[in-house]
Amino acid sequence: MPLPVPDTEESMVECRKFCGPCPSFKPNKLNEFEPHALFCSRGKSEKPVSEIENKGCSCFGCGLFSKYQLEKGYFCMPNKLG
Ligand code: SF4
Ligand code: SF4
Repeated sequence: MPLPVPDTEESMVECRKFCGPCPSFKPNKLNEFEPHALFCSRGKSEKPVSEIENKGCSCFGCGLFSKYQLEKGYFCMPNKLG
């Protein structure tokens, strides 16, 4: 079961290394919509999911993904899957 990810600066430091260069992040300008990043803790992007183009997810290499036993990835656009 996934554990809760703390919404801290320390988490953001790790998130920037993975959401930052993620192929879905910049092209979709996810930084311009709340909650900007750290979607595994803060929840999905407020950008309408129909307007987000899925170009892949870099969460799987993130240290928090394994540390908090996260599953699935794509935390910014969970409804985009399947
Ligand atoms: S798992 Fe994804 S959303 Fe969560 S901190 Fe890592 S890169 Fe960011
Ligand atoms: S949650 Fe995953 S898909 Fe979304 S921006 Fe971060 S790394 Fe990319």
